[in-house]
Amino acid sequence: MSNTPNFCPELVGSMSQGAAGNPTVAMVEAAFQHHGLCWRYINMEVAPADLADAVKGAFAMGFRGFNLSMPHKVTVIPMLSGLGESAALIGAVNCVVRRGDQFIGENTDGKGFLTSLQTEIDPRGKNVVLFGAGGAARAVAVELALAGTAKIIVVNRDEARGRELVDTLRSKTQTSAEFVAWLGDYVVPSDTHVVINGTSIGLYDADAKLALDFDSLKPGMIVADVVFNPVRTRLLEDAKARGCVTIDGLGMLVNQGVIGVKHWTGIDPDAAAMRVALERAMGL
Ligand code: NDP
Repeated sequence: MSNTPNFCPELVGSMSQGAAGNPTVAMVEAAFQHHGLCWRYINMEVAPADLADAVKGAFAMGFRGFNLSMPHKVTVIPMLSGLGESAALIGAVNCVVRRGDQFIGENTDGKGFLTSLQTEIDPRGKNVVLFGAGGAARAVAVELALAGTAKIIVVNRDEARGRELVDTLRSKTQTSAEFVAWLGDYVVPSDTHVVINGTSIGLYDADAKLALDFDSLKPGMIVADVVFNPVRTRLLEDAKARGCVTIDGLGMLVNQGVIGVKHWTGIDPDAAAMRVALERAMGL
Protein backbone atom coordinates (compact mmCIF):
# COMPACT_ATOMS: atom_id res chain seq x y z
CA MET A 1 0.00 0.00 0.00
CA SER A 2 1.38 3.35 -0.97
CA ASN A 3 0.04 5.16 2.08
CA THR A 4 0.80 2.51 4.69
CA PRO A 5 1.40 4.48 7.88
CA ASN A 6 4.59 4.00 9.85
CA PHE A 7 2.97 4.55 13.23
CA CYS A 8 -0.28 5.40 15.03
CA PRO A 9 -2.87 4.54 12.39
CA GLU A 10 -6.51 4.60 13.44
CA LEU A 11 -7.62 0.98 13.83
CA VAL A 12 -10.82 -0.82 12.90
CA GLY A 13 -11.25 -4.46 12.02
CA SER A 14 -13.33 -7.56 11.80
CA MET A 15 -13.83 -10.17 14.53
CA SER A 16 -14.71 -13.44 12.91
CA GLN A 17 -14.19 -17.14 13.22
CA GLY A 18 -12.73 -19.07 10.32
CA ALA A 19 -12.72 -16.11 7.93
CA ALA A 20 -9.11 -16.22 6.78
CA GLY A 21 -8.78 -14.37 3.51
CA ASN A 22 -11.85 -12.23 4.28
CA PRO A 23 -12.29 -10.20 1.04
CA THR A 24 -13.91 -7.31 2.91
CA VAL A 25 -10.47 -6.40 4.29
CA ALA A 26 -9.36 -5.34 0.80
CA MET A 27 -12.68 -3.52 0.29
CA VAL A 28 -12.47 -1.40 3.45
CA GLU A 29 -8.75 -0.72 3.09
CA ALA A 30 -9.41 0.44 -0.49
CA ALA A 31 -11.74 3.10 0.94
CA PHE A 32 -9.06 4.30 3.36
CA GLN A 33 -6.48 4.39 0.58
CA HIS A 34 -8.85 6.14 -1.86
CA HIS A 35 -9.54 8.90 0.66
CA GLY A 36 -5.96 9.17 1.95
CA LEU A 37 -6.93 8.09 5.47
CA CYS A 38 -4.25 6.80 7.81
CA TRP A 39 -6.47 3.94 8.97
CA ARG A 40 -6.08 0.15 8.94
CA TYR A 41 -8.73 -2.62 8.89
CA ILE A 42 -7.49 -5.80 10.50
CA ASN A 43 -9.03 -9.27 10.29
CA MET A 44 -9.00 -10.82 13.78
CA GLU A 45 -9.69 -14.49 14.31
CA VAL A 46 -11.61 -14.69 17.62
CA ALA A 47 -12.94 -17.86 19.24
CA PRO A 48 -16.39 -17.50 20.87
CA ALA A 49 -14.94 -18.03 24.36
CA ASP A 50 -12.50 -15.16 23.81
CA LEU A 51 -14.96 -12.59 22.46
CA ALA A 52 -15.38 -10.61 25.71
CA ASP A 53 -11.62 -10.30 26.12
CA ALA A 54 -11.24 -9.33 22.45
CA VAL A 55 -13.85 -6.56 22.77
CA LYS A 56 -12.17 -5.22 25.94
CA GLY A 57 -8.80 -5.43 24.20
CA ALA A 58 -10.03 -3.55 21.15
CA PHE A 59 -11.40 -0.82 23.41
CA ALA A 60 -8.16 -0.61 25.40
CA MET A 61 -6.11 -0.42 22.19
CA GLY A 62 -8.14 2.51 20.89
CA PHE A 63 -10.00 0.71 18.08
CA ARG A 64 -12.56 3.04 16.51
CA GLY A 65 -14.84 0.07 15.90
CA PHE A 66 -15.07 -3.30 14.21
CA ASN A 67 -17.31 -5.60 12.23
CA LEU A 68 -18.54 -8.92 13.57
CA SER A 69 -19.50 -12.02 11.65
CA MET A 70 -21.20 -15.20 12.83
CA PRO A 71 -21.14 -16.56 15.49
CA HIS A 72 -20.39 -13.27 17.28
CA LYS A 73 -23.28 -11.07 16.06
CA VAL A 74 -25.65 -11.91 18.93
CA THR A 75 -23.29 -12.89 21.77
CA VAL A 76 -21.49 -9.53 21.57
CA ILE A 77 -24.59 -7.57 22.64
CA PRO A 78 -24.10 -7.74 26.44
CA MET A 79 -20.46 -6.66 25.96
CA LEU A 80 -21.49 -3.30 24.45
CA SER A 81 -22.69 -0.03 26.03
CA GLY A 82 -25.78 0.26 23.84
CA LEU A 83 -27.46 -0.50 20.52
CA GLY A 84 -28.72 1.53 17.57
CA GLU A 85 -32.45 1.30 16.76
CA SER A 86 -32.35 -1.36 14.08
CA ALA A 87 -29.67 -3.44 15.84
CA ALA A 88 -31.99 -3.57 18.87
CA LEU A 89 -34.96 -4.68 16.72
CA ILE A 90 -32.89 -7.16 14.71
CA GLY A 91 -31.25 -8.55 17.86
CA ALA A 92 -27.85 -8.73 16.16
CA VAL A 93 -24.83 -6.47 15.71
CA ASN A 94 -22.45 -6.60 12.75
CA CYS A 95 -20.78 -3.22 13.25
CA VAL A 96 -19.47 -1.72 16.49
CA VAL A 97 -18.74 1.99 16.64
CA ARG A 98 -16.78 3.89 19.31
CA ARG A 99 -18.76 6.94 20.40
CA GLY A 100 -16.90 8.81 23.12
CA ASP A 101 -16.02 6.25 25.75
CA GLN A 102 -18.61 3.74 24.59
CA PHE A 103 -18.81 0.90 22.08
CA ILE A 104 -22.26 1.05 20.42
CA GLY A 105 -23.64 -1.84 18.34
CA GLU A 106 -25.16 -1.14 14.94
CA ASN A 107 -26.52 -3.40 12.24
CA THR A 108 -25.55 -2.34 8.73
CA ASP A 109 -26.55 -5.55 6.87
CA GLY A 110 -30.18 -4.55 6.35
CA LYS A 111 -29.27 -0.92 5.59
CA GLY A 112 -26.76 -2.17 3.00
CA PHE A 113 -29.51 -4.23 1.39
CA LEU A 114 -31.91 -1.29 1.45
CA THR A 115 -29.38 0.95 -0.32
CA SER A 116 -29.06 -1.65 -3.09
CA LEU A 117 -32.82 -2.07 -3.38
CA GLN A 118 -33.38 1.67 -3.58
CA THR A 119 -31.38 1.80 -6.82
CA GLU A 120 -34.39 0.02 -8.39
CA ILE A 121 -37.43 0.74 -6.21
CA ASP A 122 -38.58 2.72 -3.16
CA PRO A 123 -39.98 0.05 -0.82
CA ARG A 124 -42.40 2.52 0.81
CA GLY A 125 -45.95 1.18 0.37
CA LYS A 126 -44.76 -1.94 -1.49
CA ASN A 127 -45.43 -5.65 -0.90
CA VAL A 128 -42.48 -7.95 -0.24
CA VAL A 129 -42.01 -11.72 -0.12
CA LEU A 130 -38.97 -12.64 1.98
CA PHE A 131 -37.57 -16.16 2.09
CA GLY A 132 -35.74 -16.89 5.36
CA ALA A 133 -35.80 -15.72 8.96
CA GLY A 134 -32.13 -16.03 9.97
CA GLY A 135 -29.74 -13.18 10.70
CA ALA A 136 -29.61 -11.69 7.21
CA ALA A 137 -33.37 -12.01 6.64
CA ARG A 138 -34.14 -10.39 10.02
CA ALA A 139 -31.87 -7.47 9.20
CA VAL A 140 -33.47 -7.03 5.77
CA ALA A 141 -37.03 -7.32 7.14
CA VAL A 142 -36.50 -4.76 9.91
CA GLU A 143 -34.94 -2.18 7.57
CA LEU A 144 -37.69 -2.69 5.00
CA ALA A 145 -40.28 -2.20 7.72
CA LEU A 146 -38.57 0.94 9.05
CA ALA A 147 -38.45 2.24 5.44
CA GLY A 148 -42.26 2.01 5.18
CA THR A 149 -42.83 -1.27 3.34
CA ALA A 150 -46.57 -1.98 3.37
CA LYS A 151 -46.50 -5.76 3.76
CA ILE A 152 -43.85 -8.43 4.31
CA ILE A 153 -44.65 -12.12 3.88
CA VAL A 154 -41.98 -14.17 5.68
CA VAL A 155 -41.64 -17.62 4.12
CA ASN A 156 -39.47 -19.90 6.24
CA ARG A 157 -38.85 -23.59 6.84
CA ASP A 158 -38.51 -23.30 10.63
CA GLU A 159 -41.89 -22.10 11.88
CA ALA A 160 -40.75 -20.79 15.27
CA ARG A 161 -38.03 -18.63 13.70
CA GLY A 162 -40.38 -17.31 11.03
CA ARG A 163 -43.14 -16.48 13.53
CA GLU A 164 -40.68 -14.75 15.85
CA LEU A 165 -39.64 -12.42 13.03
CA VAL A 166 -43.25 -11.71 12.10
CA ASP A 167 -44.07 -10.98 15.78
CA THR A 168 -41.19 -8.48 15.91
CA LEU A 169 -42.39 -6.73 12.75
CA ARG A 170 -45.98 -6.58 13.97
CA SER A 171 -45.20 -5.38 17.49
CA LYS A 172 -42.32 -2.99 16.78
CA THR A 173 -43.06 -1.53 13.32
CA GLN A 174 -46.02 -0.26 11.27
CA THR A 175 -45.64 -2.96 8.62
CA SER A 176 -48.25 -5.61 8.05
CA ALA A 177 -46.47 -8.98 8.38
CA GLU A 178 -47.55 -12.55 7.69
CA PHE A 179 -45.84 -15.89 8.20
CA VAL A 180 -46.10 -18.69 5.63
CA ALA A 181 -44.60 -22.12 6.35
CA TRP A 182 -42.35 -23.08 3.44
CA LEU A 183 -43.92 -26.33 2.22
CA GLY A 184 -43.34 -27.18 -1.43
CA ASP A 185 -42.95 -24.64 -4.22
CA TYR A 186 -44.12 -21.23 -2.93
CA VAL A 187 -46.46 -19.32 -5.24
CA VAL A 188 -45.65 -15.59 -5.17
CA PRO A 189 -48.87 -13.50 -4.86
CA SER A 190 -49.51 -11.44 -7.99
CA ASP A 191 -49.55 -8.13 -6.04
CA THR A 192 -45.93 -8.63 -4.92
CA HIS A 193 -43.41 -5.94 -5.89
CA VAL A 194 -40.21 -7.42 -4.41
CA VAL A 195 -39.08 -11.04 -3.86
CA ILE A 196 -35.99 -11.60 -1.70
CA ASN A 197 -33.91 -14.67 -0.97
CA GLY A 198 -32.72 -14.04 2.59
CA THR A 199 -31.63 -17.67 3.11
CA SER A 200 -28.25 -19.25 2.54
CA ILE A 201 -29.63 -21.37 -0.32
CA GLY A 202 -27.31 -20.84 -3.29
CA LEU A 203 -24.22 -19.99 -1.23
CA TYR A 204 -21.23 -21.57 -3.00
CA ASP A 205 -23.71 -23.52 -5.16
CA ALA A 206 -24.72 -21.95 -8.48
CA ASP A 207 -27.18 -24.81 -9.14
CA ALA A 208 -29.11 -24.60 -5.86
CA LYS A 209 -32.78 -23.90 -6.49
CA LEU A 210 -35.28 -22.23 -4.18
CA ALA A 211 -38.57 -24.07 -3.69
CA LEU A 212 -40.48 -21.44 -5.63
CA ASP A 213 -43.07 -21.62 -8.40
CA PHE A 214 -41.07 -19.67 -10.99
CA ASP A 215 -44.16 -19.20 -13.15
CA SER A 216 -45.50 -16.91 -10.40
CA LEU A 217 -42.62 -14.46 -10.99
CA LYS A 218 -43.96 -11.75 -13.29
CA PRO A 219 -42.02 -9.39 -15.57
CA GLY A 220 -41.10 -6.20 -13.74
CA MET A 221 -41.01 -7.76 -10.26
CA ILE A 222 -37.78 -7.03 -8.39
CA VAL A 223 -35.93 -10.20 -7.35
CA ALA A 224 -33.01 -9.79 -4.94
CA ASP A 225 -30.58 -12.22 -3.33
CA VAL A 226 -28.51 -11.75 -0.18
CA VAL A 227 -26.14 -14.49 -1.34
CA PHE A 228 -23.05 -12.89 -2.90
CA ASN A 229 -20.96 -15.92 -3.78
CA PRO A 230 -21.67 -16.76 -6.55
CA VAL A 231 -22.76 -13.24 -7.50
CA ARG A 232 -25.23 -14.49 -10.13
CA THR A 233 -27.24 -17.11 -8.27
CA ARG A 234 -29.61 -19.48 -9.99
CA LEU A 235 -32.53 -17.51 -8.52
CA LEU A 236 -31.32 -14.32 -10.19
CA GLU A 237 -30.70 -16.04 -13.52
CA ASP A 238 -34.12 -17.75 -13.53
CA ALA A 239 -35.85 -14.52 -12.49
CA LYS A 240 -34.04 -12.52 -15.18
CA ALA A 241 -35.18 -15.04 -17.78
CA ARG A 242 -38.76 -14.25 -16.72
CA GLY A 243 -38.30 -10.51 -17.18
CA CYS A 244 -37.71 -9.62 -13.53
CA VAL A 245 -35.28 -6.91 -12.43
CA THR A 246 -32.52 -8.58 -10.40
CA ILE A 247 -30.31 -7.31 -7.58
CA ASP A 248 -27.28 -9.32 -6.44
CA GLY A 249 -25.91 -9.71 -2.89
CA LEU A 250 -22.59 -8.08 -3.70
CA GLY A 251 -24.21 -4.63 -3.62
CA MET A 252 -25.49 -5.36 -0.09
CA LEU A 253 -22.00 -6.37 0.99
CA VAL A 254 -20.42 -3.25 -0.49
CA ASN A 255 -23.10 -0.97 0.95
CA GLN A 256 -22.83 -2.37 4.48
CA GLY A 257 -19.09 -1.65 4.18
CA VAL A 258 -19.79 1.89 2.98
CA ILE A 259 -22.08 2.51 5.97
CA GLY A 260 -19.50 1.03 8.36
CA VAL A 261 -16.72 3.27 7.06
CA LYS A 262 -19.06 6.27 7.38
CA HIS A 263 -19.86 5.29 11.00
CA TRP A 264 -16.18 4.99 11.90
CA THR A 265 -14.59 7.84 9.97
CA GLY A 266 -17.44 10.28 9.31
CA ILE A 267 -16.69 10.39 5.58
CA ASP A 268 -18.89 9.12 2.73
CA PRO A 269 -16.54 6.64 1.06
CA ASP A 270 -16.45 5.97 -2.67
CA ALA A 271 -18.61 2.85 -3.12
CA ALA A 272 -17.29 2.17 -6.63
CA ALA A 273 -13.67 2.01 -5.43
CA MET A 274 -14.74 -0.38 -2.67
CA ARG A 275 -16.66 -2.62 -5.09
CA VAL A 276 -13.70 -2.83 -7.46
CA ALA A 277 -11.40 -3.88 -4.59
CA LEU A 278 -13.94 -6.43 -3.33
CA GLU A 279 -14.41 -7.96 -6.77
CA ARG A 280 -10.64 -8.18 -7.23
CA ALA A 281 -10.23 -9.84 -3.82
CA MET A 282 -12.97 -12.34 -4.75
CA GLY A 283 -11.30 -13.07 -8.08
CA LEU A 284 -14.26 -11.77 -10.09
P1 NDP B 1 -28.63 -18.02 9.19
O1 NDP B 1 -28.01 -19.34 9.49
O2 NDP B 1 -28.89 -17.09 10.32
O3 NDP B 1 -30.03 -18.24 8.45
C1 NDP B 1 -30.14 -19.11 7.35
C2 NDP B 1 -31.53 -19.05 6.77
O4 NDP B 1 -31.54 -19.86 5.60
C3 NDP B 1 -32.61 -19.57 7.68
O5 NDP B 1 -33.81 -18.87 7.47
C4 NDP B 1 -32.77 -21.01 7.20
O6 NDP B 1 -34.05 -21.55 7.43
C5 NDP B 1 -32.58 -20.82 5.72
N1 NDP B 1 -32.16 -22.05 5.04
C6 NDP B 1 -30.91 -22.55 4.95
N2 NDP B 1 -30.92 -23.67 4.21
C7 NDP B 1 -32.21 -23.88 3.83
C8 NDP B 1 -32.86 -24.88 3.06
N3 NDP B 1 -32.19 -25.88 2.52
N4 NDP B 1 -34.20 -24.77 2.85
C9 NDP B 1 -34.89 -23.75 3.38
N5 NDP B 1 -34.33 -22.77 4.14
C10 NDP B 1 -33.01 -22.85 4.36
O7 NDP B 1 -27.69 -17.35 8.09
P2 NDP B 1 -27.57 -15.79 7.76
O8 NDP B 1 -28.91 -15.20 7.78
O9 NDP B 1 -26.51 -15.18 8.58
O10 NDP B 1 -26.99 -15.84 6.27
C11 NDP B 1 -27.83 -16.17 5.18
C12 NDP B 1 -27.13 -15.80 3.89
O11 NDP B 1 -26.97 -14.38 3.83
C13 NDP B 1 -25.72 -16.38 3.75
O12 NDP B 1 -25.58 -16.89 2.44
C14 NDP B 1 -24.81 -15.19 3.95
O13 NDP B 1 -23.61 -15.31 3.21
C15 NDP B 1 -25.67 -14.08 3.37
N6 NDP B 1 -25.32 -12.77 3.88
C16 NDP B 1 -25.04 -11.81 2.94
C17 NDP B 1 -24.68 -10.55 3.32
C18 NDP B 1 -24.36 -9.55 2.27
O14 NDP B 1 -23.83 -8.47 2.62
N7 NDP B 1 -24.67 -9.80 1.01
C19 NDP B 1 -24.61 -10.16 4.74
C20 NDP B 1 -24.97 -11.22 5.65
C21 NDP B 1 -25.29 -12.48 5.22
P3 NDP B 1 -34.49 -22.19 8.86
O15 NDP B 1 -34.77 -21.02 9.75
O16 NDP B 1 -35.68 -22.97 8.50
O17 NDP B 1 -33.32 -23.01 9.32
